[in-house]
Amino acid sequence: MNTGQTDKSLLFDKTLDIMEELYDKMSTADEEGGWNDHFGLFHLFADLGRTLVEADRCSFWKWDKINHKLITNAAVGVDKIIIDENTGLVGRAITERKPVVTNDPYNCPDFNSSVDKETGYVTKSILVIPCFNCKGEMIGAYQAINKLTDEGFDLERDVRRLSLAAVVCGITLEADSFLDDSQTDKLTKLRNRMGLHSDYKSKYLKLMQRPEEDKVSVSIIMCDIDHFKRVNDTYGHNAGDAVLEHVARNLKESVRESDSVYRWGGEEFIIFLAKANLDQAANVAERIRKRIEASVCTFEGTDIKITMSFGVNEMTPDVPVEENIKVADTRLYIAKETGRNQVIKETIEGYEKVES
Ligand code: GH3
Ligand code: MG
Ligand code: MG
Repeated sequence: MNTGQTDKSLLFDKTLDIMEELYDKMSTADEEGGWNDHFGLFHLFADLGRTLVEADRCSFWKWDKINHKLITNAAVGVDKIIIDENTGLVGRAITERKPVVTNDPYNCPDFNSSVDKETGYVTKSILVIPCFNCKGEMIGAYQAINKLTDEGFDLERDVRRLSLAAVVCGITLEADSFLDDSQTDKLTKLRNRMGLHSDYKSKYLKLMQRPEEDKVSVSIIMCDIDHFKRVNDTYGHNAGDAVLEHVARNLKESVRESDSVYRWGGEEFIIFLAKANLDQAANVAERIRKRIEASVCTFEGTDIKITMSFGVNEMTPDVPVEENIKVADTRLYIAKETGRNQVIKETIEGYEKVES
């Protein structure tokens, strides 16, 4: 049996290992294409907390105030869980705005035993500590389960040990919300230009750069609503906004999980299609074109019909993303110049776009 002192130095060593891993990950993240979100950070902080309080499992919960849910953002030892905001011990810690401990969960009225019933896991002790952003608003909670030593969690000692990880998780969650906000278009809820550049670097470029045997083709569809100005002029700007939302929804519903739709600007959208060569992407674009043409956007009782034009390009990792987009943009321009409501997948000489 170790003395208390040896235990402490072991704990300190483990903590330093995680901190070092964290630092290494941060310093090499850019070479790897950057972290598109803070998931990796949450995971390591959850692990840090688990180590510091000597728990079997640890999870970090995000409080979704709009949908009244609590969602595990990073969990060590458990799958992603979503529960109602006022349920369980996490809900209680959030409601009371203070840490909660139980070393006898099955006799604790707030304990939700459904996960144990489903998985066969036996929860013996729980510690939950709420997390805050820089403004002091509660934004989540940190939960440690099953103290590895027999004595159970001690409110004072273990909250003290968990405090740093909880603070950093709070700040990280806030940063993650800011990042999400800055990459999301407020009207259509699609990702915006910043989101596109971030996804290209962290996902689509990597797919194209894989070794020859598992290389994946990635294509781009650029599309623009035809005569959209007329929609605004005829039905008003709010109707125009409703049409943009209608288009965004239709585009999203027309592609796979592995694809992404962006609002590039105004009434112009970009789709990245993974595992699609030029012809396959052109087929997808044609399917979307027909769907939009057949659809109706009803705004305040008025039915509005629109069409869209499309430019398609199979991307290459050898040139910057802007060049890949430019080729699709030229083809979209040709689609506009030669009649609109059509898909163009080839560049035709004599149709060079003059930038205004
Ligand atoms: P084309 O077929 O050549 O694309 O014609 P167009 O009328 O669609 O293109 P144009 O570039 O002349 O007009 C685009 C219009 O889109 C003008 C602009 O006011 C409108 N627009 C851009 N962003 C928004 C928005 O967020 N909401 C609304 N309602 N309109 C927008
Ligand atoms: Mg337009
Ligand atoms: Mg336009």
